[in-house]
Amino acid sequence: MASNKRKQDEKHLKILREMVSLPSNKQCFDCHQRGPTYVNMTIGSFICTSCSGILRGLNPPHRVKSISMASFTPEEMDFLKSHGNELGIDLLTGAVCLNSLQMDALLVLPMY
Ligand SMILES: [Zn+2]
Repeated sequence: MASNKRKQDEKHLKILREMVSLPSNKQCFDCHQRGPTYVNMTIGSFICTSCSGILRGLNPPHRVKSISMASFTPEEMDFLKSHGNELGIDLLTGAVCLNSLQMDALLVLPMY
């Protein structure tokens, strides 16, 4: 049983690493730092170490898990697969992340 669980963890870690390499998940959802190392299980987004600390300290706290240290259930994997940063941005457009989105919009404006 224990080795089955380890196999599952390894499989999940591999999937998570692939998910983090997707363009939409490559940056922290909250501060856009490259290479997220944590996931926010509350909204299913990928985040960096410093944001994971901030989100844990929120009231109510978000559920945060380390990609490489934590183990994930198949249900949690499905949740992350069906969410991710892209969907999170859609959900939060006009709300929490408006400022950072506007920053991005300015950065991608063509330079004439
Ligand atoms: Zn961050």
